[in-house]
Amino acid sequence: QGSPALLDIRGIEVIYDEVILVLRGLSLAVPEGKVVALLGSNGAGKSTTLKAVSGLLSTERGEVSDGSIVFDGKNITHFDPARRVRAGLSLCMEGRHVFEHLTVHENLVAGAYGRRGGNAEDFDLVYSFFPKLADLRTRVAGYLSGGEQQMLAIGRALMARPRLLMLDEPSLGLAPLLVQEIFGYIRNLNQETGLTVLVIEQNARRALEIADHGYILEQGRIVIDGTAAELSENPDVKEFYLGMG
Ligand code: ATP
Repeated sequence: QGSPALLDIRGIEVIYDEVILVLRGLSLAVPEGKVVALLGSNGAGKSTTLKAVSGLLSTERGEVSDGSIVFDGKNITHFDPARRVRAGLSLCMEGRHVFEHLTVHENLVAGAYGRRGGNAEDFDLVYSFFPKLADLRTRVAGYLSGGEQQMLAIGRALMARPRLLMLDEPSLGLAPLLVQEIFGYIRNLNQETGLTVLVIEQNARRALEIADHGYILEQGRIVIDGTAAELSENPDVKEFYLGMG
């Protein structure tokens, strides 16, 4: 792969409550400008991986107990979450985590709070990728449909001007057509702006359609990795992860 990865997770171990070992030496690289999918079944440790990268483990009494996380050449393993956002990491939680009492526009303003509410270009970018959000800008977010909330969650994460956008199960709870639409937006964002993306998903089929590279996580370890095309052809991946969707 030549050039160094934008995000390089090197053999991390994560424990909760000082005893529960959830990640066991996980390594994963996200090259600049690529879309990488981290796949695996329930409880494999996907969300834990994103929390480790975004610095949110401590709120759940978890910690990285071994290994390191390197972003843009800097060891960020012990940076606080706000500093990681400033460094260019943005986590998009699943759509139901939007601020439901705020309007669409206010949610976007909130997404740029570290940068004093964002400027016109940031809003233009989000509204041009998600024209539906422009139509709904004065609506209260709690009344949006699941798909609209997911678009808003992504838009809000973009307001932080990330270099790496991390998405936690963007397909969760959405009907198949909407899943396709949301994944289409993610692919467009990557192709048109060069945004680097790390997406975690249970829906392996859809994720591999837009990813360059994929990793399969089982019980806290990467068991298979390869290009999206390689994974789609891998008999084990086919049998255990591509049966659905
Ligand atoms: P899902 O898709 O169900 O969220 P996941 O792959 O994202 O699955 P994680 O949420 O990372 O998996 O959970 C991995 C393991 O860590 C699970 O066994 C879970 O019970 C455990 N775990 C997660 N959070 C905590 C916590 N705060 N304290 C203790 N154990 C936890």
